[in-house]
Amino acid sequence: MTFTESAERTELRAAVSALGSKYGAQYFQDCARQGRKTDELWSEAGELGFIGVNLPEEYGGGGAGMYELAIVMEELAAAGAGLLMLVVSPAICGNIIARFGTDEQKQRWIPGLADGSITMAFGITEPDAGSNSHMITTTARRDGDEWILNGQKVFISGVDQSDAVLIVARTEDAKTGKLKPALFIVPTDAPGFTRQLIEMELVNPEKQFTLFLDDVRLPADALVGSEDAALSQLFAGLNPERIMASASAVGMARFALGRAVEYVNDRTVWKAPIATHQAIAHPLAKAKIDLELAKLMMQKAATLYDEGDDWGAAEPANMAKLAAADAAVAAVDQAVHSMGGNGLTTEYGVAPMIALSRIAKIAPVSREMILNFVAQTSLGLPKSY
Ligand SMILES: Cc1cc2nc3c(=O)[nH]c(=O)nc-3n(C[C@H](O)[C@H](O)[C@H](O)COP(=O)(O)OP(=O)(O)OC[C@H]3O[C@@H](n4cnc5c(N)ncnc54)[C@H](O)[C@@H]3O)c2cc1C
Repeated sequence: MTFTESAERTELRAAVSALGSKYGAQYFQDCARQGRKTDELWSEAGELGFIGVNLPEEYGGGGAGMYELAIVMEELAAAGAGLLMLVVSPAICGNIIARFGTDEQKQRWIPGLADGSITMAFGITEPDAGSNSHMITTTARRDGDEWILNGQKVFISGVDQSDAVLIVARTEDAKTGKLKPALFIVPTDAPGFTRQLIEMELVNPEKQFTLFLDDVRLPADALVGSEDAALSQLFAGLNPERIMASASAVGMARFALGRAVEYVNDRTVWKAPIATHQAIAHPLAKAKIDLELAKLMMQKAATLYDEGDDWGAAEPANMAKLAAADAAVAAVDQAVHSMGGNGLTTEYGVAPMIALSRIAKIAPVSREMILNFVAQTSLGLPKSY
């Protein structure tokens, strides 16, 4: 075990940080406010090999792992330009296809996912299921060699900028009649597939949508992996999702803290900069401690995942997500507070993080569901729901 990052990882961190700074928070927030996408940043990140850094080299990826993709996410978020679709496209969809897709599916999708020319969204959440994904009702029915999907999804990110959505649906077990989850690649231009924008109070270029699947007909090879092993396949994508949500939150906490530190070192309303008041310095120090603790757990989760230990990665991935979300919300709150009125101005750029940091407490899995997981799985406590 080593706590010093390798030369390659240090270089990657520096290179992503440089790209993040080139675009920065102003660019990101301008895109969101003007209704533009962060296409320039996404394309450049793809060309530099950052987006597909975790994907297999033989299909055009970087051949590294989730540790490296988390570095990409964290450094962009730390620059104020965290790209939500990194959580979804290369981390969830890319990992699942790379691990469980057929050779044809890998050749079709991974090179584009890796260089950023293809973006794939991920849809599991449904209006009547929410946190209880066992309740999803989007159904896939076989029709000869084809599949027909019907159902609805909600809060699905980035569908307007995606070529396809990896949809979690259910198929009927021929013997028992029970519904079991299965994963399907649904092109966003498929007949019967429609989307509706959800108005969100988020300064974020990446939008959320309700999706309607109305007799969407798909070829046999739309099914990713086995019809019978979707839960373990899902895990292969959901641990990376939690690692990336942690990386985004850690980066956001770093961004907010960085802005606050700069501000309080400069701002003087008595004899010395306000940073000299411990009521300002101590909460910022506490925020720094909390974000570093969360980051350490995130790195443990990424390391275990990259070693192929899906189950071993699950506990730290969940713990890191909860800790990073709490750290980000607290860091942003403290940053805004430390900056007084300027903390809420558009100019200082931290106020949008109040809402953005809260996403990490709700999505991709809420903090209560993580506490449930830890209570039941780590502590062996009974389930109440
Ligand atoms: C910005 C954003 C982007 C998103 N992007 C995507 C995406 O790309 N793809 C996708 O599939 N989904 C996405 N989601 C959806 C997200 O994963 C869900 O919002 C999340 O899983 C919570 O589900 P819900 O909103 O239905 O809340 P609910 O399940 O209704 O929960 C509401 C509250 O009740 C609590 N609760 C529920 N059950 C329990 C329990 N058993 N014990 C204790 N407390 C409980 C929850 O913790 C929460 O606080 C996104 C959401 C947001 C906000």
